[in-house]
Amino acid sequence: MRAEIIAVGTELLLGHTLNTHASYLSRECSELGIGVYYHITVGDNRDRLKEVIRTARERSDLVILTGGLGPTEDDLTKETVAEVLGIELVEHPPTRRWIEDLFRQRGLPVPTGNYKQALVFPQGTVFPNDRGTAPGLAVSHEGVTYVMLPGPPHELIPMFETRVKPFLISLLPEKEVIHSQVLRFFGIGESHLEERIKDLIDGQTNPTIAPYAKRGEVTIRLTAKASSVQEAEERIAPVRQAILDRVGAYCYSERDETLEQVTVNRLRDRGQTLALAESCTGGLVAQMITSVPGASEVFKGGVVCYTNEAKERMLQVPRHIIDAHGAISMETACTLAEQAARQMDADWGLSVTGVAGPSPAEEKPVGLIYVGLAEKGRPTRAYRFTFRGTREEIRVRAAKQMLFLLQE
Ligand code: ATP
Ligand code: MG
Repeated sequence: MRAEIIAVGTELLLGHTLNTHASYLSRECSELGIGVYYHITVGDNRDRLKEVIRTARERSDLVILTGGLGPTEDDLTKETVAEVLGIELVEHPPTRRWIEDLFRQRGLPVPTGNYKQALVFPQGTVFPNDRGTAPGLAVSHEGVTYVMLPGPPHELIPMFETRVKPFLISLLPEKEVIHSQVLRFFGIGESHLEERIKDLIDGQTNPTIAPYAKRGEVTIRLTAKASSVQEAEERIAPVRQAILDRVGAYCYSERDETLEQVTVNRLRDRGQTLALAESCTGGLVAQMITSVPGASEVFKGGVVCYTNEAKERMLQVPRHIIDAHGAISMETACTLAEQAARQMDADWGLSVTGVAGPSPAEEKPVGLIYVGLAEKGRPTRAYRFTFRGTREEIRVRAAKQMLFLLQE
């Protein structure tokens, strides 16, 4: 099945709103095994909308339109689809009652514009909207299915999840399951990772192997089609193993979870606690860890020791260490990690000091990062990294690198 997504809205063309529906719906479709071949964005303009609908029906089996189902004059998506298809819309009494009830509950009269939201395609499907007034709609005409969804994301996403997805599955020619598993990697770039498994990617169609990079990490999604979830998992298993045999050293999870979730879970499983001393990340690692529910079982606390003075006063880094090696050094990183662990009586002390940029510091280059790792009963280790990117990218990468070191 060939699909096309048409996002309707002048605000998208003006750049005021980012077209997140296109990426959301594409991801969802690809998980269902529906190929999306075009993303179109068009303004709230009847003639241009007609033009793109006419083009879409020539080349796609499924056309998903988003936005323009609202009550106002410039909301004209379904009216324009109806016009192109030559279909007369009819009133849908349950939707009309739903709209009337919504306004009655608010103690307001129904604005006249809202009545048009109860107009639907006579032989079509209506997807009720639990979060708003405009229902989603689907209609099939001359072999092409048109799906129309409301623009607001808090309406579109739940509607898609609960109602549109089952509808799309019912359109699929074979009744098969599409099942995905993910592997998550850190410390290897997308292109390097792809190079190492290129022959596997090229040789595979079921499961497919799809790597994608985001914020310094790479995720590989393995998607198989089969007659049952179990059969899909059996198809995925050997391919997953082949990938792990090659690049398993960079894999921090074989599930769809974040580095911070993995870190908290791992510490909890081991019954261990963590304390932080953060300089250039300014509390980012503490923020990541505490975003995970249950972090209090493993995270004792952290110090943001940004200046040399803070490193000396709060974590007792001796002046002579900073004088001799600088604050951005292996030695300072080690002391920070040890002091954090000692003062907070934690099993692990993790520290970071470095140059996030944009300018060098202590005559050391942008991107140079030292991480200290103190572990009860073992010698403290320090690691040196050089990261490239903007200040923000370097900070995020350093923070993730710190969590990744805890996995070993
Ligand atoms: P409404 O009843 O709010 O008018 P609608 O179905 O007519 O809903 P639009 O008017 O096109 O939808 O868009 C409503 C809001 O939804 C926009 O202001 C925007 O915030 C969001 N939105 C619309 N299209 C997209 C899109 N493609 N990606 C992300 N957000 C979108
Ligand atoms: Mg609108």
